[in-house]
Amino acid sequence: MKIRFWGTRGSLGTPGPGTTYFGGNTSCVEVTTEEGGRLILDCGTGARPLGIELLATAPKPIKGSILLGHTHWDHIQGFPFFKPVFVPGNSFSVWAPKGGSRSLQETLSGQMEFTYFPIELGQLPAQITYHELAEGTYEISGARVTTQYLNHPAVTLGYRIEADGAAIVYVTDHEPFSDNLWRGDSEPGHIDSMVHEGDRRHARFMANADLLIHDAQYTPEEYASKKTWGHSPYDYVVELAAAAGVKRVALTHHDPEHNDLFVADIEQRARALAEKRKYALEVFCAHEGGEYVINGKQIPLSAVRQGDAEAAVSPVAAARILVVDDDPLLRRLAVKVLAKYGHTVREAVNGREALRSIADERPDLVVLDLEMPEMPGLDVLRELRSAPATLHLPVLILTVSGNEAATSASFEAGATDYLTKPFSIPALTARVHACLERAAHQRD
Ligand SMILES: [Zn+2]
Ligand SMILES: [Zn+2]
Repeated sequence: MKIRFWGTRGSLGTPGPGTTYFGGNTSCVEVTTEEGGRLILDCGTGARPLGIELLATAPKPIKGSILLGHTHWDHIQGFPFFKPVFVPGNSFSVWAPKGGSRSLQETLSGQMEFTYFPIELGQLPAQITYHELAEGTYEISGARVTTQYLNHPAVTLGYRIEADGAAIVYVTDHEPFSDNLWRGDSEPGHIDSMVHEGDRRHARFMANADLLIHDAQYTPEEYASKKTWGHSPYDYVVELAAAAGVKRVALTHHDPEHNDLFVADIEQRARALAEKRKYALEVFCAHEGGEYVINGKQIPLSAVRQGDAEAAVSPVAAARILVVDDDPLLRRLAVKVLAKYGHTVREAVNGREALRSIADERPDLVVLDLEMPEMPGLDVLRELRSAPATLHLPVLILTVSGNEAATSASFEAGATDYLTKPFSIPALTARVHACLERAAHQRD
């Protein structure tokens, strides 16, 4: 696979004399397989120069797949300036996570309404198809693409791309699930030593990748005041990648406040950390124009379920869901949102009520808050896992960052998934549906 970075900046395009080396364009990476399959990861302003290059050099008509991690501006703003979509005969498929109430096509149309842009999405002459994704494995442009939800305020997917016997993993925007990566009583450097199952799952997603392209917007010092913004400090990325057996890491999504000197310093500090830990890991900061050929080593393909590339997101069957939280506002919101999808939602205000409700009628999924008076969520989970009838009942845990001990314990106790408060409504529905899908798949 050939990789080329067209945009490495996060949040906002940052042109100027201070960013000429690492680049000022926002997220865009081009991946080409040996067979000529073309995957474009994100469509930030880097998509503009990529489009010009493709028109000049690519065989015609131009085809490709555009994979969007999510639809925040810095990942879609280059799309209306991507010239190949203005040429009849060219064809592109656009892939992105299924998010809120609007479809992917509606979201992309939004930034091209007449108020903002002279040409509407529907007027583009190229043939464009839109596909909404959940977690799964898909065949896209001749590559095997696996998706996984990331920890970001919007519903966001990471992409693992396997082709030509090599694997690259693209992860932006994402932040750690846990303040402390390693358990106090454990030896750092191993996936099993991580506190939070979310970080462990994230590490497994990137396992043995030949190249990991990962959000590293902050230094650890900056991250302390930027928690819940959805971006990672570089030390987290180095630690995770090493534990996951990744070969090399490209740190990206550079902060607009960081000039070339600052980013070069991050690169140096990240390398020093890898060296200090004696990690066999090559680390660099991605720069615009950087081009790499990734030679595969026939990595074992991850065992994940197959998705259907055409109908990427299958409709979720109506389920019975129990929402357990002492916060009435959260319960009301969850009931309202989940009912829209045809789910029957019951509520419980504390742990005891939850257990009674489950004994009366077993739901298909429990959304369980950890911090509740009387009987905390952790005790509820332990009790559920101790009874054969509820041993495999899917439980989505709601956590608050900062409560490391309880979070860690809940995974030991057998939580299915976790969602950090505060979360967006689309994030809740995406995680509920992912839990239900996983449970249905386990039954198959
Ligand atoms: Zn971003
Ligand atoms: Zn974002």
